[in-house]
Amino acid sequence: MDATVVVTDVQPVGSDTVAIRFRTPAGFEALPGQFVKLAATVDGEEYARFYTLSSPDVADSFEVTVGIDADEAGPFSRHLADLSPGDELELSGPFGSNHYEGEARVVVVAGGPGIGPAVGIGERAHRDGNEVAIVYRDDDPAHTARLDDLREAGATVTVTDGPLADPLADVITSAPGEQVFVYGFDDFVDEAREAIAAAGGDPDDAKVENFG
Ligand SMILES: Cc1cc2nc3c(=O)[nH]c(=O)nc-3n(C[C@H](O)[C@H](O)[C@H](O)COP(=O)(O)OP(=O)(O)OC[C@H]3O[C@@H](n4cnc5c(N)ncnc54)[C@H](O)[C@@H]3O)c2cc1C
Repeated sequence: MDATVVVTDVQPVGSDTVAIRFRTPAGFEALPGQFVKLAATVDGEEYARFYTLSSPDVADSFEVTVGIDADEAGPFSRHLADLSPGDELELSGPFGSNHYEGEARVVVVAGGPGIGPAVGIGERAHRDGNEVAIVYRDDDPAHTARLDDLREAGATVTVTDGPLADPLADVITSAPGEQVFVYGFDDFVDEAREAIAAAGGDPDDAKVENFG
């Protein structure tokens, strides 16, 4: 669907990461791990970029998590970080088939702003009574409060700034009902796929969303 969405909250959730919450437009339905296209005019130029849901549902409001990389961030992510409640954006979506579908055990491998879908999927799977493991690579982690809550609720949460294979070997069981997800930018996705294979999993069975 296409809709104009209204910002209800913008919160820093890390030193280079913001969580932006929107009022859910009528008729909008989406699952954790799906993404939307957000568009706006910035300094007279029209931009549109994709962002993955970071809330466990979209019942009354929904959230996306945006990384604003000090070196690589472009005009649109910087614009999103400066939004305030009441601001409006154009939305299309949801898009994507690499989302949570009620699997009995989720293993989410996240890099950078990929932590958004990791916490959204983790919270939804926990609420559904399913098992949750998250392996998150970042040297300056975001969403640490929600990760702590998930850990306290029984999830296995590993935050690392090093190689992925060993932490993945600890959580990939390849048992029936287990689903591995990967969310992050291009280099991270390549590395995660290799690490899944090294940990005994099959990267071709993973649900992978590459941020570009
Ligand atoms: C399916 C999909 C889902 C996505 N979901 C998210 C999401 O949930 N959260 C999110 O922050 N982004 C997400 N992205 C990326 C997002 O769409 C933009 O590309 C990003 O915000 C940069 O936009 P920009 O206009 O600021 O920079 P641009 O000028 O478009 O990009 C500048 C360059 O920097 C790189 N870059 C920008 N930001 C980062 C970063 N934080 N880390 C590493 N490299 C970076 C880009 O890949 C590009 O090469 C997603 C992309 C896709 C395709």
